[in-house]
Amino acid sequence: MAEKIVVAFEANGAAVEVRLTEDALRLIRKEALASIDKETGGILIGRYESDGNLAVVTAATESPGDSSSGRAWFQRGMKGLTAKLRARWPHGEYYLGEWHSHPGGAPDPSSDDIRGMRSISIDISYKCPKPIMIIAGTSGTSIRISVSVLENGRLLRLRPRVPPTGSGTDRSIIPGSKIKGDL
Ligand SMILES: [Zn+2]
Repeated sequence: MAEKIVVAFEANGAAVEVRLTEDALRLIRKEALASIDKETGGILIGRYESDGNLAVVTAATESPGDSSSGRAWFQRGMKGLTAKLRARWPHGEYYLGEWHSHPGGAPDPSSDDIRGMRSISIDISYKCPKPIMIIAGTSGTSIRISVSVLENGRLLRLRPRVPPTGSGTDRSIIPGSKIKGDL
């Protein structure tokens, strides 16, 4: 399976690094930009490498049909997610976390966002003690992304690392995107 890493995020002093594939980033960008006046989001799927110190997000899902949202809130539904996750298990890929958009806003986690990630980290049905959260802040046709990891009850915001190890960084894959600031 062709897999192209387009961005990587890491934190000073933290053990974890998060890499996003082109597929995952493209879906987040498309969905976030298409939802102009309401938040949207889905889950992140991928795998851990390097003894769990590297998370590779290989896919992001669209908003499940039973999700609900408003200008500044998003309640992700469940519909169809189990089937999507099951299809990935044979490839050694699992639930890694959540993504959602902030239409017309900065990709900064809100207190509700942090609370949501805390409850996922202690919910045994997710089997994901260190969930990843990606927020896509949109402005017109441009997008900024933040990546955070919940570790020991604290949300740790990662910084972009360019270029990612072992692959070229090619931002031209997203025509017209103005990736700047946080990303
Ligand atoms: Zn939010």
